[in-house]
Amino acid sequence: MGKKLQCKHIGPDADCQFVARGETNDEILAQVADHAKTVHGLSEVPPELVQAALSNISEE
Ligand SMILES: [Zn+2]
Repeated sequence: MGKKLQCKHIGPDADCQFVARGETNDEILAQVADHAKTVHGLSEVPPELVQAALSNISEE
């Protein structure tokens, strides 16, 4: 049983298809940070985005 987070639920691009998957919130956040940097051009993940990510992580 893992966790997942869809970028389109928290990110600036409602059409983004990226889905982060992991066993822990930290794994998800690491993937989101990497994705935000490489795809959305964010140099760092702001605290609001971390909060949004944590509240949108779901079990799968
Ligand atoms: Zn994205």
